[in-house]
Amino acid sequence: MSDEVNPFSSLQRQVEEAVQYVDVTEGMLQRLKSPERVLETNLTVEMDDGSTEVFTAYRSQFNGDRGPYKGGIRYHPDVNREEVKALSGWMAYKTAVAGVPLGGAKGGIVIDPSEYSESELERVTRSFATELRPLIGVDQDIPAPDVNTGQREMNWIKDTYETLENTTEPGVITGKAIENGGSEGRVEATGRSTVLAAREAFDYRDEDIADATVAVQGYGNAGWITAKLVEELGATVVAVSDSSGGIYDAAGLDPVAVKEHKRNTGSVVGYQGADDEISNDELLTLDVDLLVPAALGNVIDADLAGDVEADVISEAANGPITPDADDVLEGKDVIVIPDILANAGGVTVSYFEWVQNRQRFHWSEERVNDELESIIVDQFWNLVDAYESHDLPSFRVAAYVIALQRIDDAAEEFGPWP
Ligand code: GLU
Repeated sequence: MSDEVNPFSSLQRQVEEAVQYVDVTEGMLQRLKSPERVLETNLTVEMDDGSTEVFTAYRSQFNGDRGPYKGGIRYHPDVNREEVKALSGWMAYKTAVAGVPLGGAKGGIVIDPSEYSESELERVTRSFATELRPLIGVDQDIPAPDVNTGQREMNWIKDTYETLENTTEPGVITGKAIENGGSEGRVEATGRSTVLAAREAFDYRDEDIADATVAVQGYGNAGWITAKLVEELGATVVAVSDSSGGIYDAAGLDPVAVKEHKRNTGSVVGYQGADDEISNDELLTLDVDLLVPAALGNVIDADLAGDVEADVISEAANGPITPDADDVLEGKDVIVIPDILANAGGVTVSYFEWVQNRQRFHWSEERVNDELESIIVDQFWNLVDAYESHDLPSFRVAAYVIALQRIDDAAEEFGPWP
């Protein structure tokens, strides 16, 4: 694991590599490498015992050329300004690759939520929502869940915003509970696109994902849903992990039973149906057909990449592979389906949620999943087309070429402010 790699430098390097294949002006390139603005705020919040604590929080709005800023809010002790800036850029490129009419943003609070009560977390969240109020809005910036946040936090933010604005505007945030204006299929969407993109990648290799062995690193929402859905396609999930460690079984694990075990004990480790316990690094270097990093960023650095044995990697996490590791994997002909396509299901169904909120109309789960599948499959083959027709070095570069072109095209339509 590499702690030193600055994710914002990684983002800039990814953009610089791809921009060689796109005709954009120097001024536009500068614009495509940095956020438009970053809010840094200190939230002073009362704890249950009457004391107060201060939490640093960020919201980075990277690019709004294609539509309102869009992206999640994460709660994690390692949240920092550089990471939030990088994540906001990845959102702008992700919405462009998915072809949904949105920009990119990201937020985060420096907090370990496991150390706070529900009422403390509610006050922290409502305090952040109050600070965000001037920046967000149904046509301005639309937050969503990310690491360690979910429906509960989104419901609090929606309620705070609506109370302060004296309005009803569920589309100000996505990833809400269904009863609160959420969309069918949103919880599963990130894992679903990770699996759909992987299925198409195996097809591209003239292979069937049903014959694949799979390892999934991270068993939060994205990881566990990926394991469940890929197993439903017939693949064998031989290993999964979380921050406490991993489990392995050559004959295949039952993802639902593992989830049940994690719900009861707090970790996948100790699950009775597994042969062995393994470390996260061992999981990442297993000889499997498909590897899915579904936890945090920078987990595969150049050293570890040298030991990776998977044929296909589908990035459910944001930024799990460093640029140096990308170079190593490229040399080994590993197909990496980049995060900005693989995990784009989350923001795509967020877009559907926002559309439904604006229509005041609720789509069926079947409609959500069908529309998601057609977007991910179409955009996967667009990416293959760009990769092959421009003879690009990797699927990641191809994804950035498509995204940069789409953002540049949008910016060109309105031109610079006089
Ligand atoms: N946090 C998710 C992501 O990184 C979803 C963002 C959204 O739905 O706006 O893509």
